[in-house]
Amino acid sequence: MQSEFNLIKEYFTRPSKNADLGVGDDAALVSASPGHQLAISTDMSVAGTHFFNDFPPYFIGWKSLAVNISDMAAMGASPKWATLAIAIPDTDKAWLSEFSRGFFACADAFNVSLIGGDTTRGPLNISVQIMGEVPNGQALRRDGAKSGDEIWVSGSLGGAALAVHKIQKNTLDAKKPSDQSLVEKLQHPQPRINLGLALRGIAHSAIDLSDGLIADLGHILESSQLGATIDWSKIPHFDSAPENLSVETIQTFALTGGDDYELCFTAPSNRHSDIINIGKSLDIPLSQVGTIKANEGLIVLDDKNNPISIKGTGYDHFK
Ligand code: ADP
Ligand code: MG
Repeated sequence: MQSEFNLIKEYFTRPSKNADLGVGDDAALVSASPGHQLAISTDMSVAGTHFFNDFPPYFIGWKSLAVNISDMAAMGASPKWATLAIAIPDTDKAWLSEFSRGFFACADAFNVSLIGGDTTRGPLNISVQIMGEVPNGQALRRDGAKSGDEIWVSGSLGGAALAVHKIQKNTLDAKKPSDQSLVEKLQHPQPRINLGLALRGIAHSAIDLSDGLIADLGHILESSQLGATIDWSKIPHFDSAPENLSVETIQTFALTGGDDYELCFTAPSNRHSDIINIGKSLDIPLSQVGTIKANEGLIVLDDKNNPISIKGTGYDHFK
């Protein structure tokens, strides 16, 4: 059996570019850039809740960091440092080395240094804290939406939720390219950091889509004390062609499905063409899906302008 200290050394210690002192002392030391605020967030990943137990450990490592980096994207912050508190049931070398490989692949992709953490024995539980920087006063917050803002989303919605559904129903075909891309969406989320950075000074508010558009846009509306109208026909949803799904089911996945880690943001209509240009230069699909309204409440309209009623409002651990 490996000691806790050897384990930390072997799997969780890498040179940390962004830190003055990294893993190995009682605390890490970092220097914040002048004129910046620190953006700090924590997300926990629990086996059985956030990933299936047979999820490849590489992707558990990638995703446990990626979902945290996505919170930096939503704030318009540059991610820089992370800590990792992990409980593992045993010291399974193959598992740990794959987990660590996926975690550091994500860290390298987004220039994040792992600067500390805690390692204990227990049911698998992974808690990551991410820290990033944003120039003073420029963070994209949930409470900044204005009446008349256009509502935008990046990428496409509902694919990760459909992947979960197919895994649970045992109908996922690992050889089918359309199913492979659904699993990729679920296991290998790509946080929209470059988009968050480009939206500083343009977007009035932003959030990342972890619990579904209706729930997450709902947080913007609540914080900003406003309402919204969404046009279903403008929602960029997953490719439903290979699936045999009713419109209601497609709507449920696209509007209430979690785990997409796209951004939803609001911006004044006079920035519409700037946003189109950002999408082109970053090669990220951006869709304007609705408008912020002064009256509270969220209405989704079908293509005949009739309100759609949606079952469920998104993922909530305590419902
Ligand atoms: P202490 O007893 O002072 O809390 P630990 O023995 O828990 O120290 O950790 C030793 C060092 O290893 C610390 O710098 C801590 O931040 C780091 N560390 C522990 N676990 C991890 C981990 N999973 N990932 C990264 N660093 C870790
Ligand atoms: Mg400790």
